[in-house]
Amino acid sequence: MPRLALSCVCCDSGDLDRQSAILMPFVAQRALNWTPCEVTADWGLRDIPPGHALALCSTLHCRECGLVFLDMRFDEQEMARLYADYRGAEYEALRDALEPGYAQRNRRLVAGDGHIAEVEAFLRPWLPERPAVLDWGGDTGQNTPMRLQASLHHVLDISGRPTLDGVQTVQEADLPRFRYDLLVLGHVLEHVPEPGQLLARIASVMATSSPNARLYIEVPFEALMRSAESDPGAWSRKRHWHEHINFFSRDSLESLLGRHGLRPLAWTRIDLADGAVVLGAVCRRD
Ligand SMILES: [Zn+2]
Repeated sequence: MPRLALSCVCCDSGDLDRQSAILMPFVAQRALNWTPCEVTADWGLRDIPPGHALALCSTLHCRECGLVFLDMRFDEQEMARLYADYRGAEYEALRDALEPGYAQRNRRLVAGDGHIAEVEAFLRPWLPERPAVLDWGGDTGQNTPMRLQASLHHVLDISGRPTLDGVQTVQEADLPRFRYDLLVLGHVLEHVPEPGQLLARIASVMATSSPNARLYIEVPFEALMRSAESDPGAWSRKRHWHEHINFFSRDSLESLLGRHGLRPLAWTRIDLADGAVVLGAVCRRD
């Protein structure tokens, strides 16, 4: 993967719109160790006017599938630095210093999602009574759908945080030994530089799982992408980038899934209590 995306990370089209944007200081500092500064007259630059210097990046918009994304694709070390002890004490302290009010919001995020019951009602018809569940990127396991009905509850996560009672952490190399009925990929795809590579790994786990294995994916349906449904120029309002480096439309998700042999069987759109909206799909392997 090149440092800067040259084509759409969902559909691979090279037909992209581009506009300048900034990488938010929290992400720039954690991932790249870049801190904003002020260019003053004593820098002695002949052709550069004084002003604030922030990490410059580009917003890209795929004309084919509608994906809006950050051009900069972090490498493995940068991702590891950005997500080490995700939402833990050090993470929270730096982020609250740069984005006052974050710590309070973080407590609510860590406390768990209120919409899981709705997700479970959506998934119920596609699953056996007591499904074997793998939550890919599932953190402590607390937000895994069907966790109280699961015959097996596995979590694969890089955060290294202790899991809830009854939840087993697994390594990717061990996955072919298990036959999962449900794989969950919730709120991961919007963070990853190479969503296609991740889906290829998931599709290969589904190949060795139950023949009726289902994948549930869920991503934020960002306000910008909701307005893009009626305003084709909405993408150009994306002037800053944070942890979410991919803003999906339904078309872009469908295209991404299709390229890895995964077919959505049903879609859901859920409004959360805080005004955010999520987009979910239950998929099978072709
Ligand atoms: Zn695309």
